Amino acid sequence: MHHDDSPPAARPPRRSKPVRVLALTLAVSASTALAGWLVWGAMSGPAKNAAPGARPAPGPTAPGPTAPGHTAPGSSGVTASPGAAPLAGRTVVIDPGHNPGNFAHPREINRLVDIGTNRKECDTTGTSTDSGYTEAAFTLDVSHRLRVLLREQGATVVLTQDADRPYGPCIDERARIGNTAGADAVVSVHADGSAVGNRGFHVILPALVKGGAADTARIAGPSRSLGENIARAFARATGSAPANYVGGGTGLDVRKDLGGLNLSTVPKVFIECGNMRDPKDVALLTDAAWRQKAAQGIAVGVRTYLRG
Ligand SMILES: [Zn+2]
Repeated sequence: MHHDDSPPAARPPRRSKPVRVLALTLAVSASTALAGWLVWGAMSGPAKNAAPGARPAPGPTAPGPTAPGHTAPGSSGVTASPGAAPLAGRTVVIDPGHNPGNFAHPREINRLVDIGTNRKECDTTGTSTDSGYTEAAFTLDVSHRLRVLLREQGATVVLTQDADRPYGPCIDERARIGNTAGADAVVSVHADGSAVGNRGFHVILPALVKGGAADTARIAGPSRSLGENIARAFARATGSAPANYVGGGTGLDVRKDLGGLNLSTVPKVFIECGNMRDPKDVALLTDAAWRQKAAQGIAVGVRTYLRG
C-alpha cells in the first residue's frame, strides 16, 4: 500500500554519523536522562493506564470539577506541588498521522499539494494490520494518551486533527498548524507499513531542504535534538528496539520527501512506533498497555528536549 511516510525502497543504510552522534549524546546525557526519567516516572505514575482521551482523575485534594479539555496545571492533584508543571508556557503540537475518514475520500486526499520542494498527495490512508486495526486509529489513540501526559506537565497541547473532520488535513496544513501555533515541538505520530520481519521504531528527522516554501535550515538541528531525545526515551519506556530495517540501528532516519517536515518552521519529527505489517510488532501496537508506554516514551522525550 502506498504510504507517504514509508521509507523508499533500496536506500543505503545510514550508519556512520547517526551512530556516532547518538552514542555521544547517550554518553553525555545518560545521567541527566536517568534522573529525568525517574522524576517523570514518579509524577506520571497515576496516569499509567489512562484510557484514550482520559483526563487525570481528580485526587482527594482537588476541589471541584474541571472542564473537559481545559485541565489547568495543578488541578489534578498530581501536579499541585511547586515546579511540578515543567512545561507550563510551552506549546506542543501532536499530529496524529492520517485520519480515519481518509479511506472514504480518495479523491480529496489524492489531490496534489505544494510541499516546497515537490508536489505530493494531500494525505494518505495509512496502513493497517491484517485484522483491520488502522494506523489512523492507532495514531489517534497514542496521541490522546500523549496529550494527557503533556497536559499533566503543564503544556498547551494542540492536535492537528481528532477525527473531527471528514479527511486530512493535508500535509501542508499539518505543517501550517504547528507553525501557526508557534509550537515549541511537534510530533507526528505514525506506525509503519513495511515487510514482515521488519521490526522496531524509528524517528524521522527533517533533512536540510530548501525550495519554495520549504526551508529547514533553522529547524534541522533542534529537530534532531528533539528526535534523539524521543528515540532514547521511547526505547526505554517500551523496551522496543530501534528499527532493524532503517536507520542502521540508531532508531533515527533523515528524510527530505515529507511535506509535513519540509514545510515546518518549528522543531518537528515523525515517529514510526512499529510496523503494522509484522505480527510481532502488531502484538505490541494492538495492546493498549503498550500504547500507553509508547505515549510515555514520547512525552519523556519531548519534556527532556524542552527542558534541556
Ligand atoms: Zn503513517
